[in-house]
Amino acid sequence: MVVVSVAAGLAWRLSLLLALSLLAGVILGGVVWWLLAAAAVALAYMLYNIRALEDWLRTGKRRSAASGTGVWAPFYSDILQLKQRARRRKKRFHRLLREVRESTDAMHDGGVILNADDEIVWMNEAAARLLGLDPSRDCGQIVTNLVRDPAFAACIAAGVTREPVKIAGPGPGRDTHLSLQLIPYGSGQNLLIVQDVSRQVRLEQMRRDFVANASHELRTPLTVVAGYLESLDDDPAIPPGWAAPVGEMRRQVRRMNAIVADLMQLSRLESAETPPGDAVVDVPRMLTAMHRELLDRDRRPATITLDAEPELRLHGEEQELHSIFTNLLNNAVRFTGEDGTVRCRWERDTDGAWFIVEDTGIGIPDEAIPRITERFFRVDGGRAREVGGTGLGLAIVKHALHRHGGELFVESEVGKGSTFRCHFPTARVVRAAGPIRLDT
Ligand code: ADP
Repeated sequence: MVVVSVAAGLAWRLSLLLALSLLAGVILGGVVWWLLAAAAVALAYMLYNIRALEDWLRTGKRRSAASGTGVWAPFYSDILQLKQRARRRKKRFHRLLREVRESTDAMHDGGVILNADDEIVWMNEAAARLLGLDPSRDCGQIVTNLVRDPAFAACIAAGVTREPVKIAGPGPGRDTHLSLQLIPYGSGQNLLIVQDVSRQVRLEQMRRDFVANASHELRTPLTVVAGYLESLDDDPAIPPGWAAPVGEMRRQVRRMNAIVADLMQLSRLESAETPPGDAVVDVPRMLTAMHRELLDRDRRPATITLDAEPELRLHGEEQELHSIFTNLLNNAVRFTGEDGTVRCRWERDTDGAWFIVEDTGIGIPDEAIPRITERFFRVDGGRAREVGGTGLGLAIVKHALHRHGGELFVESEVGKGSTFRCHFPTARVVRAAGPIRLDT
């Protein structure tokens, strides 16, 4: 619009100038000279204004809109307005940037932007404090060269993960605990979120210590009570009416003992700092013994089968693997009627080894499946207690599996049955061969 008005103004003025010079030429003679002179004046006027405009744009010096003469004045005025608008936008942008910086610096959680080569692009104050970095010096550096901690390097190397990773904070005391999570950000960049979780870790540790100590303290009195109840049972001097209450007391003490033992096992699994050992565990032999024990039970599903690859063994902790298998098999047998079926498989595929227990029992409602590995969670408390159980079995399975790098998958349908699948990674598998079948 500006160009059009300037162009129109110029065209009009040029035409007027040429018309006047033509008239002067006709009246005074020498039309060509008059026209040439007029063209030279017009050209000089334009060159002068273009030069002035160039100067102004290049030096950026403020000039009033009136600096442009004649038809050029609106041109100057529009450019001046554009410049003022750009200046105001720049100021707003700077203010916004300052506010973002102040608010990110006020955050308790750290944020570090890393480029595709893991070089630091930006960090807030909390990140600098938690990771022991210096924002003025360390931007542009590869973050793992600055935070020299194997757990930190492993987290960065692992890239974007669903769950945050907990590591001990850097520094000599290492009494802080950090939670790290990488989130994809922009093109090829990652945002590393750093949180100080020292308080949660300490509380969690206190809870674990409390449960471990309480269970340990309960063991001795329970053993004493169980001993007295045993002797009462055999005592002929006890009145006959006492037999039933004594029997019930013995059952309850046995249950308490089982709960205490499971709590202690869970505490051990939770607080174990070293990964499970690398001993070769003969899983087929272990499963065959468990299968036999299940078949010897008085009350059990009619069919219990085991298909195990005979040479498929695992690197791991024998006692923890025993807990995984026995808890899942016991559950399948306890929650399946006497006319039902329990099928157990131990096999491998390209992803690793699989322990699968399938039953035709009571099943688990969909909404309860995500909760069944919680401590003391039972779908039907009365029934679970009736069939005997501590409410801790699947929590133990989950922890022991996790320690072996494994995962638990559950599928179930109420009234139809359940399938529990445990996956062990290939790194833990020792060797596989053809299947054997051990049926009832
Ligand atoms: P519990 O000692 O009560 O069996 P678990 O932790 O082993 O404790 O199991 C938690 C709950 O999950 C059980 O109480 C039961 O409600 C449900 N559950 C576990 N396994 C099965 C199964 N195979 N069939 C049906 N329900 C099951």
